Amino acid sequence: MNPLRLAAVAALLAASTQAHAYVRSTTDVGNPGAGTCLWWGQRTVSFAVNATSAANPPNRAACPDCAPCQDASAAASLVAATLPTWSGATRAGESQACTDFAFQSAGTTDKVAVGNDGVNLIVFRSGQCQDTSVVPQNDACRNTVGACAAKYNCWEHDVTGTIGLTTVSFNGKTGQISDADIELHGWNGHNPPNGSYFTCAESPSCGSAPYASSPLPTACAYVDVASIALHEAGHVLGLDHTCEYAAPYDSCTAGSVMQPTIPTGQTRRALDADDVEGVCTIYPRGAATLTCAPVAGKSSGGCATGGGGGLLAIAAALLARLRRRRS
Ligand SMILES: [Zn+2]
Repeated sequence: MNPLRLAAVAALLAASTQAHAYVRSTTDVGNPGAGTCLWWGQRTVSFAVNATSAANPPNRAACPDCAPCQDASAAASLVAATLPTWSGATRAGESQACTDFAFQSAGTTDKVAVGNDGVNLIVFRSGQCQDTSVVPQNDACRNTVGACAAKYNCWEHDVTGTIGLTTVSFNGKTGQISDADIELHGWNGHNPPNGSYFTCAESPSCGSAPYASSPLPTACAYVDVASIALHEAGHVLGLDHTCEYAAPYDSCTAGSVMQPTIPTGQTRRALDADDVEGVCTIYPRGAATLTCAPVAGKSSGGCATGGGGGLLAIAAALLARLRRRRS
């Protein structure tokens, strides 16, 4: 290759590096600059939804107005209708989707256990597993990671500001994904709350403290199920957070679905240009999946709401802010 041609190629590479802000998940969890990228071998990924707890906080008897998402079928339908948004990723000026990656609904399920079992699950949790009113103190499930969540459909993760968490199972050498499950951290029914007051309406905003009003609002947006499901589905297909890591992974646009936080009352139900580039770069329509060079295990990433503006990468800081907003 002569020097001129080499320079042109280098310039092209530089331009394409600056053109996007999406970040790919890798086998080195939380370190997008290391490991090998995660990807699906097939273009159609099915998912099953368990939303039975979406309208049933554990202490519902003490909270008869608690119906965060009207009912379970409304929540499940909204999730099923939302995931195909990724399949419709279309670049500006183009009329056809630039990817042929597709999420396919396998209906609803009563399954609650997460793991590499061939079922890509989206499950609403409610109540904290560590709460003894949810899981008896002497229950043997407390001795096994994941067992209490599987028995009581409770939230077992200890990051209380986290809204959703996606567990991706992959081949540690190739990065090929074999299973991905989404857990959504629903409200426990208490006030002050633990977990998120999920809503299904896109607008208007519920305001700052729907938990405190009576009757509780249902036709408004607080923690929008569709926005959270769309974000977590981005993790399922192999995208990591924008604006969470050091340069060159620290840029994002205001509407990016893959930002790690979302202010309460806001919705992000549409892909922005970076999200579109992400899915279309990995799974370009009619062309080979873009893998990247270079370990076994699981990747878990928590996502949370942020109050007001700005982005917060640390769930603990986020929780403190939410508590202040509720007080
Ligand atoms: Zn996330």
